Order: sequence, then C-alpha cells, then structure tokens
Amino acid sequence: MAEKKKTIKHCMFCGRPENEVPFMLSGLDGSYICSDCVKMAADYLKEIEVQKAEEESSARIEKLQKPKEIKAFLDQYVIGQDRAKKLLSVAVYNHYKRINHNLADKADDGVELEKSNILLVGPTGTGKTLLAKSIARLLQVPFTIVDATEADYDLAKAERGIVFIDEIDKIARKGDNPSITRDVSGEGVQQALLKLLEGSVVNVPPQGGRKHPEQEFIHVNTQNILFICGGAFEGIERRIAQRLNTQVIGFTASEKQKVDKNNLLRYVAAEDLKAYGLIPEIIGRLPVVTYLDSLDKDSLLRILTEPKNAILKQYEKMFEMDGIKLIIEDGVKELIVDTAIKNMLGARGLRSICEKIFDDAMFDAPSSRRKTFTVTLAYAQEHLKDEAVERKSL
Ligand code: ADP
Repeated sequence: MAEKKKTIKHCMFCGRPENEVPFMLSGLDGSYICSDCVKMAADYLKEIEVQKAEEESSARIEKLQKPKEIKAFLDQYVIGQDRAKKLLSVAVYNHYKRINHNLADKADDGVELEKSNILLVGPTGTGKTLLAKSIARLLQVPFTIVDATEADYDLAKAERGIVFIDEIDKIARKGDNPSITRDVSGEGVQQALLKLLEGSVVNVPPQGGRKHPEQEFIHVNTQNILFICGGAFEGIERRIAQRLNTQVIGFTASEKQKVDKNNLLRYVAAEDLKAYGLIPEIIGRLPVVTYLDSLDKDSLLRILTEPKNAILKQYEKMFEMDGIKLIIEDGVKELIVDTAIKNMLGARGLRSICEKIFDDAMFDAPSSRRKTFTVTLAYAQEHLKDEAVERKSL
C-alpha cells in the first residue's frame, strides 16, 4: 500500500496530485509540472515581455534619434517632400527633448521649453497624414487622427503621443475681416482647438463622444502631446501672391523674379494663414509651418514602387503568398500614374486604380496552378476602361 502511494505524481509547483490536474508533464530528473502551472507560467512570461517592450519604448524616446536619423527613417516611407521632412524631424526632436528636459532639468535651470506644434499645408493626398503616421511609427508612440471639424476629439490614448488634426483649414473663419463676416461656428471650433494646442487639461469621453454619450469624462493633459495639423488651404496661393506683391514693391525687377510663381505654397507664412481665417491665437500655437509639394508624375511613379510598403510591393507580396510571381510589363506603371493624375486625387488615387487592374486576377489566381501572372499594358487598359467611362460622365 505504502509502495503505491509513492508512485502518485505531484506537481512540483502547486503540489497537487495528478488526479486533480488536467495534465502532468515530466522533467528529465523525474519531477513533474501540471498543465495549469505551465499555462500560468506562460501568462506570466507574456506579461514580463509586454512590460519589457513598454520600458524599451519609453527608453527609445529618451534615447531620441537625431533629426538626420528621423529624416532618414521618413525617407523610407515618404517620397519627396524634403523641406517638410526636415522641419518635421527637427520639430519632433525638439518636442521630445523638451519633454525630457521639463521632466528632468526644469528644477535646475528654471528654463521651461515651450511646446511647438506643427502645421503642414499642402494639397490632398500629398503625404501629410503619412508623415505624421510615420513619425509615430518611428517613435512607437500612440497615434490618433482627428478631424478638426468634429469638436469631440478622441485623445484618451495620446498623452505622450502624436495627434494628427486633419482639415484644419475647414474651420477657418470665412473672409478676412472678423467684424464684418464673422463665422461664429468656425471661430467656436477654433477656440476649442486652441485649448488643446495650448497644453491644458481637457475633459474627453474615453471612447469618443457621440457613440457613448453616457460615459464619464476623463482628464487628458495635452501638455506633452505633439499636435501635427494638416490642411489643403485651397486658394491660399492668392493670399501669398498678394502679400509677396506688396512686399516686393521697391525691389528691382530681377529680385521680383526670384519668386517661384509655380510653387507659391513654399512661401506660406503666418500672415497668409491669418488672411485665410485662422485666429492669431491658433497660429501662435503652430509655430512650425511648412508646405508639401503637389506630386508630379515622377513622384507618383516612385510612390508606386519605392517606399518600404509601396503599393506594388504589396501586390507582389500578396501574389507571392499564393506561390505566384507577379510581372508588370512596361507602360503599366505609367498608365496607373496618368490615370491618377487625370482623377486629380494625388497619390490617394493610386490604390483604387490598382484595385481595378488587379481585382479579377486576385479572384482567379489563387485557384489556378499558374506560377506567374503577367500584367500587360493591354490587360491594364482593358481593366481601366470603365474608369475612363466613369470619368467622362462626371
Ligand atoms: P494627405 O496629404 O491628404 O494627408 P495622405 O498622407 O493621407 O495624404 O496620403 C494618401 C496616401 O497616398 C498615403 O497613404 C500614401 O499611400 C500615399 N502618399 C501620398 N503622398 C505620398 C508621398 N509623398 N510618398 C509616399 N506615399 C504617399
């Protein structure tokens, strides 16, 4: 009897006998561990890994990359837009330097570095959101996109992260003169936005406003959030031209010619934003203003193929996962880009055009035995035929 008792296996972690546990695993030395304890240990290890990753990510901000390194990272994802990339790299570097300084040294030297948010001005689909998103990816901080026109901003996740405020031009006051053509709603939204940009504690609903009206507000300190605002500011070139004209009075003709009339956006300044209808307080909170170029044919071709996650690389990958090599013949890329230019959607149009070309193939290819799939120019043209008809009927 005593002999038999000895052979009952016990988990060396929780001590339970084998008949009380789902499953028992044995080690080389003859000891045992039950499946419950294995699961618990695995959960514990996972928790430690998450903790370690979080620590590494905050350390990454402390060991912040230099502006040149930030720009090199952006170069992998964003084509062109060199001026914006440079300014953004410096602004981001300074922002996190400022957070670290204010946390660590403020008491020593009494210098408190002020927050400086960024405004990106440029046509739709030129990479404003992509720039902000790529910065957040580099820093591995939370990233949130909000629309300037929807006053209930969802900021709960973002206390040390980046918030991209899209369409800031849409809340501009209409007309130059506030006393005559005051656009009250526009100004109201601008005042609300100002509170955020100033770096104060704001009350926000934890999961966005309209969906869960009953929830309690939480306090979010916007002090350390980096706000990147974006807007197309359509027609602002006229204001810039006006200002430049008045400024160049008295200059010689040759100096006047130095202004690049085809790219007036590059001269965008605070005065133009004010003339466009942003209140001066908001402009004051967006000290870094830069512009994005509209994308020419060459840039669009590069966007199709060069970035780390370029659209055509994604298609190649998808076919490759079915064991199929995708071959794109000469002329197809040009056709895609020309169609996007005609649609006037900037780079944003590229994906939907590619979808039209590839959708039949994506449907058929996985069930076929083929090892390659070749997109000829004729095939692409055929698949974009409807696209041309749709455009004509607009
Ligand atoms: P917006 O300027 O309107 O914020 P987005 O950044 O949302 O434009 O661009 C839309 C899409 O077009 C991006 O997801 C990206 O795929 C592509 N794109 C736009 N501009 C660029 C660029 N300069 N380099 C690479 N891709 C770009």
